[in-house]
Amino acid sequence: MIRPGQSVGIVGGGWLGVTLALRLAEAGVVVTMFEAATELGGLAAAWSIPTPTGDVTWDRYYHVTLASDSALRRLLADIGLDDTIAWTSTKTGYFSDGRLSPVSTPREFLALPGLSPLAKTRLAATILRGRTVRDWRTLEAVRVERWLTRWSGAETFRRFWVPLLEAKLGDAWPDANAAFIWATIQRLTAARRSGIRDERFGAVPGGYARVLATLAAHLAGLGATVRLGTQVAQVRQRADAGVTVTTDATSEDFDHVIITTTPRVAAALCPQLDDATRARMVAVRYRGVVCASVVLRRPLSPFYLTYLMDDLPFTAIVEMTTMIPPASVGGYTLVYLPRYCAPDDPMFDAPDAEIEAAFLAGLRQVHVVAPDDVVAVRIARAREVFPVPVLEYSELVPPVATGLTGVHLVSSAQIVNATLNVNETVGWAELALTELVVRPVPSTHQ
Ligand SMILES: Cc1cc2nc3c(=O)[nH]c(=O)nc-3n(C[C@H](O)[C@H](O)[C@H](O)COP(=O)(O)OP(=O)(O)OC[C@H]3O[C@@H](n4cnc5c(N)ncnc54)[C@H](O)[C@@H]3O)c2cc1C
Repeated sequence: MIRPGQSVGIVGGGWLGVTLALRLAEAGVVVTMFEAATELGGLAAAWSIPTPTGDVTWDRYYHVTLASDSALRRLLADIGLDDTIAWTSTKTGYFSDGRLSPVSTPREFLALPGLSPLAKTRLAATILRGRTVRDWRTLEAVRVERWLTRWSGAETFRRFWVPLLEAKLGDAWPDANAAFIWATIQRLTAARRSGIRDERFGAVPGGYARVLATLAAHLAGLGATVRLGTQVAQVRQRADAGVTVTTDATSEDFDHVIITTTPRVAAALCPQLDDATRARMVAVRYRGVVCASVVLRRPLSPFYLTYLMDDLPFTAIVEMTTMIPPASVGGYTLVYLPRYCAPDDPMFDAPDAEIEAAFLAGLRQVHVVAPDDVVAVRIARAREVFPVPVLEYSELVPPVATGLTGVHLVSSAQIVNATLNVNETVGWAELALTELVVRPVPSTHQ
């Protein structure tokens, strides 16, 4: 157990790492965080896209905060940012058989082309069922195809659900369990369940660049050390108690070390793991993403998110500037084109220019985009973003305890009953700490 006054090294400065660092530093623990990249934030970090009128700085991958994201909003409140969130009601589009339709309201849903009234009724029943199921563990034992076919019917499964499953899981979707769809439906309907009338989407003005800079300042104020551009090469349990973290440049000793990377990376960092723990860690299969940020001179649509039923090089269209003011990004329109795929997908090694050409050609199948409309494109790649939710996933996940004294794993792979997002990440980091940290015993003396 970690005690106030002890030293803790944290490997990874994504949202797991920064949440652990903040809460541990607040509890009086001496924190040192190691982040391989030159900035904090991991998948939620910001970047800059050069344009003729100056750099556009926003999140490398699109991020939205929901009004119902209670763990994240508590943390933002603690660092003085929750009140600054700018909230909007967003619209959703649906592209099928070469036609773009709105699908933001029940009336628009009923008017959707390509799905019969019976198919729509069954779809609505499926979503209602997903909303009301409480025991996600039973769904984890059922293949997603079986559950969705049962509730939506074979035709609607093929026409509606398969494109959506492929959009997120690629060719791994047949392995997915039904709790994956349950978790997606739960997130989409979280507001209603938590008593909020309308789900609103929001972002802190300045995006995650501002959130992470504010967090960094808080960490510094609490005395935490953040080592950026510092890749950890090895984590070893010492014979005389304590843990040594080795980087390219140094070795440092800590009372405890928390690794926040994917289990595969954690296994590579820890040569002393026993075979069973190592096997469990490397068995978790992740999905990655290739995502284009496209800066345009004019808006494309009123839709924050457009679902794509047709086969395109990317798997959704996210028009960020329907949610944030264009002034945040130099007055331009910012559109993200993500393609979720396996970590060994050839697209990860394809040249940027090739991906840009293919993605812009795909975008022109949905919207009219003149060559002059495109101001800049930048391609981001992450080979490991979220785990494939296979059957009985929660039974297979590697635990926090690694078998090495003082070495703990707090990983996105352990988020088992939810979609991956910053709110769940913050919530999981805080929950894991309740098991890892000895709370000071309240004094009985006044
Ligand atoms: C395309 C996309 C869209 C998303 N949309 C949303 C959204 O709308 N809303 C939302 O809430 N969330 C969204 N998310 C999810 C959110 O970004 C993640 O859930 C969250 O950022 C994960 O944080 P993490 O700490 O688990 O992992 P990561 O961010 O991956 O952090 C791990 C960190 O460890 C570091 N690291 C790895 N190995 C080492 C090493 N050896 N030494 C030192 N450091 C190391 C990495 O550099 C990285 O910074 C999205 C993610 C993506 C990719």
